[in-house]
Amino acid sequence: MLKRIGVLRRLLIVCTLAWSPLLLLSGCTAPSPTHTPTIESDVYQEARLDMVYRQIESRGVSDEAVLEVMRTVPRHLFVPEEWIALAYADQPLPIGYGQTISQPYIVAWMTELLDLEPGDRVLEVGTGSGYQAAVLGELGCQVYTVEIIEELATLATQRLSDLGYSNVTVRQADGYFGWEEHAPFDAIIVTCAPDHIPPSLVRQLKEGGNMVAPVGPPGGYQTMFIVTKDQGQVRSRNLGYVSFVPLTR
Ligand code: SAH
Repeated sequence: MLKRIGVLRRLLIVCTLAWSPLLLLSGCTAPSPTHTPTIESDVYQEARLDMVYRQIESRGVSDEAVLEVMRTVPRHLFVPEEWIALAYADQPLPIGYGQTISQPYIVAWMTELLDLEPGDRVLEVGTGSGYQAAVLGELGCQVYTVEIIEELATLATQRLSDLGYSNVTVRQADGYFGWEEHAPFDAIIVTCAPDHIPPSLVRQLKEGGNMVAPVGPPGGYQTMFIVTKDQGQVRSRNLGYVSFVPLTR
């Protein structure tokens, strides 16, 4: 009996996968997660599990809480409709205004580096689509995220509220200056590249906290740094080359 259920399940998966390109190309919109699951949401669920296994675990991200939120947050609801078929692909995608949603692996890696606990107060600079903020919110953090482009800030605010992320607050502002009213932060994540580490962000980081930020000139590659603050000492460690859109002023 169990064997037969296994065969049926595999058949169902094959069918949903076989149908998925058609469903996606036909421009269907995904149901919100509050709806009863349908075959469409199953398609995205399979794609998400596959993304985590092939793109994220295989590259060494091992924090189970991070992997679980990456299996949960509906990334396809954070990309423009014309890119939905590539929502779970191993790449960044355009979100308009010359900006991008980061590659899934980069989101998971940076999140793991922050070493978060539920309840931590986290600042993100560069809200973009709101996806990274949702990942942090899904981990149970209190998230403050700053976006410089008004239209993106408005869109992300709406999307995060529709999805029920009441622990994520979006503000339209220049994130170079952080968010003084909510400082100090247990962790800070910068998802656009400044050409130096903003001193105000270092000031707003708690003792014992971690900040991750890509730093370098616009275009081409920058260097990912993890900055820690320990007994008043600020240390930064180079984690290798990455490519991000610039932090603009
Ligand atoms: N974290 C995002 C992707 C970020 S793309 C996501 O999950 O989708 C980088 C974002 O940083 C862009 O939306 C860009 O407009 C924003 N940005 C650039 N300079 C900024 C600044 N000074 N302050 C706040 N946001 C900034």
